[in-house]
Amino acid sequence: MKDRIKKTQAITLKSIDFRETSKIITAFSEGFGKLQLIAKGVRNPKSRMSAALQTFVNTEIVFYKKETTELYLVKEAALIDFFNNIHHDLTRFHYASVIADFLYSLLAQEQISKTLFQYALFILHKIDQVQKEELPFILSKFLLKGVALIGFKIELNKCTVCGKEKFSPLYFSHERGGLLCEECKMDDTAVKILRKPLCRLLSGIQENEGGWNSTEINKEDFMNASLLFSNWIHYHNHRPLKTLDNFIKGKAFHY
Ligand SMILES: [Zn+2]
Repeated sequence: MKDRIKKTQAITLKSIDFRETSKIITAFSEGFGKLQLIAKGVRNPKSRMSAALQTFVNTEIVFYKKETTELYLVKEAALIDFFNNIHHDLTRFHYASVIADFLYSLLAQEQISKTLFQYALFILHKIDQVQKEELPFILSKFLLKGVALIGFKIELNKCTVCGKEKFSPLYFSHERGGLLCEECKMDDTAVKILRKPLCRLLSGIQENEGGWNSTEINKEDFMNASLLFSNWIHYHNHRPLKTLDNFIKGKAFHY
């Protein structure tokens, strides 16, 4: 079958060296979802594509889409956004790594979501530009919306079983994907208490669609929120998101 030449914008998520001078790149593209691409000769210093195919950049890729393989050959690549601060500031780099890790780990091959692509791009611009104190808020916002966009919105406003809205104490169930009340948590032994202020904080971030007023999240709340997201992802994806766990283990800077 004849190759079909395709062009798309893509965020590069991960790359591994391949043979002498090539790389295999995983990218989240706007038009075709998560792709695996081989860029031949890209590690050669003379390659015109090397800058455009680094990790964590937004780039325009032209590639040959074949029916017979899932590894496509890059024909051309042109850099659109480099995200200069992400590449030169370790704190911002850690935050951007979680976004890339999330997309890499939770999206299926060639699962297309233009909304998630645009949102991830928007968030990377934020991580590149905002005051560092706002980074925990930006990341929490991405994780809440990100899981919703892949079909698992976390329910923080009512009991996921009986629908009751105002109750106390609050329990959180990864299996149910949200809150449980005292009566409904009966059979679920894996539920954990969710502190009301944290639930209110996350629910506020989740509901506030267009709100980008700088909301600072204190260190303790950010740790607890990260732990909740981390456990949720581990439960649903059967493996942890290492980059997010780095925040919890203190291996990544808070800000
Ligand atoms: Zn209930």
